[in-house]
Amino acid sequence: MKAVRGTRDLLPPETELWNRIEAIARKVFARYNFGEIRTPIFEDTSLFARSVGEETDIVSKEMYTWEDRARAQSEKAQSLTLRPENTAGVVRAYIEHKLGESGQLQKLYYIGPQFRRERPQKGRYRQFWQIGAEVIGPPFAGSESPLRDAEVLEMLATLLDELGITGWKLELNSVGSAADRARYNEALRAVLDLVAPRLCQDCQRRAVTNPLRVLDCKVPEDQPIIEALPKITDSLDQESMDHFAAVTAALDAAGVPYQLNPRLVRGLDYYTRTTFEFTHGGLGAQNALLGGGRYDGLSEAIGGPKAPGIGFAMGLDRLVLTLQASDADQKAAARPAHAYIAPLGENLNPAALVLARELRRSGLSIELGDGSFRLKKSFEAADKVARRIVILGEDEVQSGILTVKDFATGTQSKIPRAELVSFLAE
Ligand code: ATP
Ligand code: MG
Repeated sequence: MKAVRGTRDLLPPETELWNRIEAIARKVFARYNFGEIRTPIFEDTSLFARSVGEETDIVSKEMYTWEDRARAQSEKAQSLTLRPENTAGVVRAYIEHKLGESGQLQKLYYIGPQFRRERPQKGRYRQFWQIGAEVIGPPFAGSESPLRDAEVLEMLATLLDELGITGWKLELNSVGSAADRARYNEALRAVLDLVAPRLCQDCQRRAVTNPLRVLDCKVPEDQPIIEALPKITDSLDQESMDHFAAVTAALDAAGVPYQLNPRLVRGLDYYTRTTFEFTHGGLGAQNALLGGGRYDGLSEAIGGPKAPGIGFAMGLDRLVLTLQASDADQKAAARPAHAYIAPLGENLNPAALVLARELRRSGLSIELGDGSFRLKKSFEAADKVARRIVILGEDEVQSGILTVKDFATGTQSKIPRAELVSFLAE
């Protein structure tokens, strides 16, 4: 049996890096006063259809959807879907628990797996992990303020810096309000009617179903034509322009570097106004570390109150790939236990467990050997996993003085049991 295509097992010591990234993210989120939300891994299919959008790649071909059979007469069969992203679930929870009624902005973060039936390749999996956050609330709580956008972007710049990721690039755009987008779609359609026959098959379909998606096209031959298409920047109304100008002014003040990219539209339909992507050159074709933006109409689109918001989702798998490629990670990779306890004989196994329990409760990382091993075997095993070996024979138990050998220096010492914790902790 093998793990399903596009999924994988994460094993130590790599999981240590995953945990380190998650711990840093949690710390940064705490400083910005975000709280954690955990939503279910699966939701009603219609949630994603209505939020992410029927015509997006995600909903049209990437979701894991099944018909969940009724177990009793009183139950109804239901179409369920493994979450392909988490914003829809967060907004569904915001509505369900009436979080808006507190009058406060909700600042929520999540860390968890997402599922998309994509073509697996480096940095692209069918089960992958995202760290994300959302700022959402009623307009009177300030949820529409461009300061929220700038604050989220500044937080991301801080987070990437603290993770030790250097050389990231922030690309920024405004896709305008729903009305701006409708206007832009019209302008785009008018031009696409003329040039679409010269574009790739996918673009020809997109030109009809979702013209904005044409801008996402990666086919090299299409690029000159796409470059010449109208820019969404020219379809923004005054309000959207002012909002975007306020976002960039705050970023300038904070010294967060960015590049304007009028073609950046993102793959989900719910985005409005500010949209962004952080990329990293070391990732190759899958170069997006994270993406996000505003979704001012999302809550209403799934039956909730007006609740503008902004958020992002960061690919944890891609963060790991980026950090693994850098030197900084290599030295943190091997972290052996403080000590390996080698009981000399099976009759000393219980005493060894007592000693291990004592040391572990003092906060040390301990490997416990086995009294059936010959001493040579214990030494070999210990050398692989621990910095020192503690030998526990009858003499040591009687005298309370333990024999400790340090593998790095090769020195052997006699340490009284009362001093063992501080000696091993060094
Ligand atoms: P991409 O352009 O790489 O397909 P996307 O636009 O589909 O990304 P989002 O839906 O915005 O991405 O998800 C946010 C982030 O989640 C991405 O920037 C990426 O880091 C990560 N991500 C998305 N899909 C995958 C996947 N299949 N495997 C690994 N990470 C992913
Ligand atoms: Mg994608």
